Amino acid sequence: MRRMIIAGNWKMHTDIEEARKLTLGVVEKVGGKTEPAVILCPPYPMLPAVKDIIEGTTVQLGAQNVHSEDKGAFTGEISTDMLQSVGCNFAIIGHSERRAIFKETDEFINKKVLKVNSSLMIPILCIGETLGEREEGLTFQRVEQQIKDGLNEVVVTTGNDIVIAYEPVWAIGTGKTATPEQAEEVHAYIRELLGEIYTPEIAQDITIQYGGSVKPSNASELLGQPNIDGALVGGASLKAEDFCGIIEAGS
Ligand code: PEP
Repeated sequence: MRRMIIAGNWKMHTDIEEARKLTLGVVEKVGGKTEPAVILCPPYPMLPAVKDIIEGTTVQLGAQNVHSEDKGAFTGEISTDMLQSVGCNFAIIGHSERRAIFKETDEFINKKVLKVNSSLMIPILCIGETLGEREEGLTFQRVEQQIKDGLNEVVVTTGNDIVIAYEPVWAIGTGKTATPEQAEEVHAYIRELLGEIYTPEIAQDITIQYGGSVKPSNASELLGQPNIDGALVGGASLKAEDFCGIIEAGS
């Protein structure tokens, strides 16, 4: 069964008090909901505090990034074991900001997906074309390459083993949203690719989130598309009311 998942990517926002307040706001409104699944991805230092508040609720914890190695001389990096030890169930991998600002390649992203896939956590693999790529008609080509490279040798035996987030780079943090039709077209293509890589049955069960300026006012239409199974939310996840409005739209 395909799951609807709404995840909040707080990026490099919130201090400890803001993180607690935001988490409490989310838990008060949707802490008992099982559909859609709700994931909070705060900055690393806030993970334990957020975990304490979501304990005993249906809200789950995710990390915004992870390293591909288990341990060692990787100053500033965080391993899957560390994330699991503070209660993370998910890790975002290959966010467009990691790709663009921190120069993460498809090859490195693949190593991270493999690592998370072999842990108890679930990778949320982000893919999406830039504005230039869309304008040059390269959207499908770029998405195909990111999917094939990102999932190289990744074993997926059920739809619950991985989450894909389609995030057109030109729609992230810009206020520009892909139209539901534009998003659905790419989501359907991604599902087709997943069917070729795994099986059509498994592909049917994989959650494909949309991300890019999702807000309460556009969430219903986006989430109403047949191949859009949730949202990865940046800006609007920093206000409990807006984030919960999106969750309600996915209910
Ligand atoms: C994101 O950071 O993944 C994102 C989609 O951001 P925003 O919702 O702000 O566009």
